[in-house]
Amino acid sequence: MTTCERAPLTEELESHSAWSQFLEYVRTRCSTTAFGNWLEPIEIVSADSNEISLRIPNVFFKEYLLTNFGKELTLFLPLKASGEPNITFVIEKQEKKPRQSASVVTKPQTEAEPTKQGEDFSSFEVRLNEAYRFQTFIEGHSNQFVKSAAFGVASRPGASYNPLFIHGGVGLGKTHLLHSIGHYIKEHNKKLKVQCITTEGFINQLVDSLKTKSVDRMKRFYRSNIDVLLVDDIQFLQNRQNFEEEFCNTFETLINSGKQIVITCDKPPSQLKLSERMIARMEWGLVAHVGMPDLETRVAILQHKAEQRGFLLSSNVAFHIAEHIHQNIRQLEGALNRLSAYAKLMNIAITEDLVEKTLRDMFQLAPREKISIENILKSVATVFQVKASDLKSATRTKEIAIPRQVAMFLAKELINESLVMIGEFFGRTHSTVLHACKSIEKEVHENETLRRQVEMVKRSLQSQI
Ligand code: ADP
Ligand code: MG
Repeated sequence: MTTCERAPLTEELESHSAWSQFLEYVRTRCSTTAFGNWLEPIEIVSADSNEISLRIPNVFFKEYLLTNFGKELTLFLPLKASGEPNITFVIEKQEKKPRQSASVVTKPQTEAEPTKQGEDFSSFEVRLNEAYRFQTFIEGHSNQFVKSAAFGVASRPGASYNPLFIHGGVGLGKTHLLHSIGHYIKEHNKKLKVQCITTEGFINQLVDSLKTKSVDRMKRFYRSNIDVLLVDDIQFLQNRQNFEEEFCNTFETLINSGKQIVITCDKPPSQLKLSERMIARMEWGLVAHVGMPDLETRVAILQHKAEQRGFLLSSNVAFHIAEHIHQNIRQLEGALNRLSAYAKLMNIAITEDLVEKTLRDMFQLAPREKISIENILKSVATVFQVKASDLKSATRTKEIAIPRQVAMFLAKELINESLVMIGEFFGRTHSTVLHACKSIEKEVHENETLRRQVEMVKRSLQSQI
């Protein structure tokens, strides 16, 4: 991976902005109470491009952060060689600065408890992000349909498609659309009560209500106090059977009484590991996919976001960035933030040269062809510390079988090779490859170590380009 020389001040500025970006991201994914209790009290002590040091009120904050947002931290903050976020935690001396929020928190949990236990059901509500509006959502071929569907629902809640199920990969605008619907309804239909929640939030609220024996009140709240329910990231309902049933009941009651539901997810309903009943419910209305915008749309998004930040991006520069970052709009925004910080600090114009110098390490594997199945094999062998030749052998021990399955899975994902071709390479049948892909896809969601190993292989492949 190329690292370019950066002035220390610039690095610090960037790492501060990485932390702010992380906070912005997390803000939309947890309740206001949780954010206020767990995230706001954290302060940056120092930061550079290699590590960040955070002051926390007590050790539970560290656990909370790593347990709940481990994955997100790796997306935003500097990383260690192992792929973990490089954070040093400094525990604040209690007597130095007593904090009200710190004293509220006594133990780590997935979400903080609502202040008025069991009563304040809206405290798990996610605050709508001010920037996520239809006006700021740029349309292209890949998202035109889903945007019209979202707008249709916002214009006639409960009367067009119900539920509206929006699915697509990470950072492609699902939450943006969900919040746009919320804003639009709140502004145009003031009488309607809109509640936006994350699936995690719903589950935690239910757990809290169980603790405080207020489940019935919570049910009543959901069933009588809401006209529009916006649910972000329903995939987190998978493997949570007890909650699935409760969610399904709430869902049916709301739909049956003509209330609007909008759901986002990282996959289509049919691929969710949920009950048939739940899947059928989610397919009741309209299922719309949001894909990665094409090059022209990415350029338009970049220019629009640059304008919002108060600077102009020439077409050449915008094309150059959009060509190289093509998997995730959030990363496009990150690139823009970094670039503008540089340009401002150095007081220089944004040129293609500057883009190359400052963004090179963010550029993604554009041409998939550049990754070969041999490279995948080698990288997997290095990360899992096995011999590459063993991965192609007949050996069936677990130590070899798992990395072999990972290699098959990555070959399918990264080079989109046919199952038959991958099978031939490993001397296996296509159904063995299919089984491997499915099994690893499932495992990475459940097994943190494996997920990290897979990430490491991907990163090592990226750095070879
Ligand atoms: P997701 O929920 O799909 O992971 P988000 O909705 O959080 O993604 O979007 C990530 C970032 O990309 C947000 O800042 C959002 O504003 C931006 N974004 C995504 N798609 C678009 C688009 N079509 N136009 C403008 N901004 C977009
Ligand atoms: Mg989202």
